[in-house]
Amino acid sequence: MAATTRTNWAGNVTYRASRLERPTSVAALQQLVAATPRLTALGSTHSFNEIADTDAVQVTLADLPPLLEIDADRRVVRVAAGMTHAQVAAGLEARGWALANLASLPHISVAGAVATGTHGSGVRNPSLAQAVVGLEVVRASGDLVSVDASTPDGALDAHRVALGAVGIVTTVELAIEPTFQVATTVHLDLPWDAVTEQFDAVVSDAYSVSLFTSFDDRGARQVWTKHRVVEPAPSVDLVALGARRADGPVHPGENDAASVTEQGGVPGPWSERLPHFRSTFEPSTGAEIQAEYLVPASSAVPALEALRPLEPVFAPLLIAAEVRTIAADTAWLAPSSGRQSVGLHFTFRRDAAAVADAVERIEEVLAPFDPRPHWGKVSAASVERLHEAYPRLDDFSALARDVDPIGRFRNAFLARLLS
Ligand SMILES: Cc1cc2nc3c(=O)[nH]c(=O)nc-3n(C[C@H](O)[C@H](O)[C@H](O)COP(=O)(O)OP(=O)(O)OC[C@H]3O[C@@H](n4cnc5c(N)ncnc54)[C@H](O)[C@@H]3O)c2cc1C
Repeated sequence: MAATTRTNWAGNVTYRASRLERPTSVAALQQLVAATPRLTALGSTHSFNEIADTDAVQVTLADLPPLLEIDADRRVVRVAAGMTHAQVAAGLEARGWALANLASLPHISVAGAVATGTHGSGVRNPSLAQAVVGLEVVRASGDLVSVDASTPDGALDAHRVALGAVGIVTTVELAIEPTFQVATTVHLDLPWDAVTEQFDAVVSDAYSVSLFTSFDDRGARQVWTKHRVVEPAPSVDLVALGARRADGPVHPGENDAASVTEQGGVPGPWSERLPHFRSTFEPSTGAEIQAEYLVPASSAVPALEALRPLEPVFAPLLIAAEVRTIAADTAWLAPSSGRQSVGLHFTFRRDAAAVADAVERIEEVLAPFDPRPHWGKVSAASVERLHEAYPRLDDFSALARDVDPIGRFRNAFLARLLS
């Protein structure tokens, strides 16, 4: 495809790639890789930084045939890596199966979500990458190789969150379970005292819980409780703690509530409740910039208290901050690797300079809590800081050098990060 001005979903990154290739088969992708000096996989363009950009060639798998093969005995689904979670979720639900969790937006590609350690919420739910039990990847040579739990040297954990550095993933095998029903209930304005004193109880009270805040006096201005209906009902009385139950659908930011998945405690399939936003709703370009930091779960309350004085910085810029929980991952580079985590997420208006300032302030304030920036969102962290935050980065660099000695998959983001 000829170069045209192309951007990421949010419109804050204009891709520098000279062209975008769209192979229609794995064989064509293998030939393309072998014949192209440098190229970077592009998923559904939902990252907010340059991780998916390159000054060489981008390649999308969006034109590869869809694939959804269920192995009921192994409880695994094999999917084409370029499919979106919305496509996979709809296909699984139609056949009576489910993934354990989803991100807020279902339009994100499976490979892109896995590559950056994307997560949903839930004290028992690790990142979406942890559901990967195997994958097939086109190496720099053009060879297609399989990686699973039997591959030596913890290769699967290295490949789960791989930032596009070790090859182009063509298929992913994901753990599945029988379909389940979820009911979302929203409460408004949970006071700060309740947030800080009852934090663990509130976030553990249902399968997936999200708190939204502006860091102002309203405390958690929305608490989304996603309850798996066969499990015991939530027992924390948020009304007794000072919140009130929402009397109609609410959007976590400023958009039309028609785009959010059903609330009001109405049970529905996991695929239509675990994402915050409806798969049938086509989000336009975002006009927003996101940042997110995962801190150890034990630091959640002190980290929130440390952020509150930044409210005047946030007031003109912040659309919504979301607080979620993520169980520990085994993936080397997952932001929740090896530790039960809390994600502190910020959706800002698309004012890149103001967001850069705010992000620096956030990172100063969070520094004592060992924050790990989300790989797909903006951050001011130095390479040294990222190596402190991600202790397996050197091991990952060595693997990337080993499987891609000529740097075919290196873009500027990876060249800065990896030795
Ligand atoms: C509205 C919105 C909501 C979001 N919600 C959440 C959320 O709930 N939780 C969360 O954690 N994050 C969230 N994110 C962040 C998002 O999940 C990540 O940025 C994710 O990586 C985007 O996936 P993508 O397919 O768009 O990948 P891209 O941004 O296109 O690429 C990201 C990375 O994946 C690599 N990649 C893509 N395809 C392949 C492939 N086939 N093989 C190898 N590498 C590949 C790219 O090279 C790049 O390194 C959200 C983003 C947006 C815009």
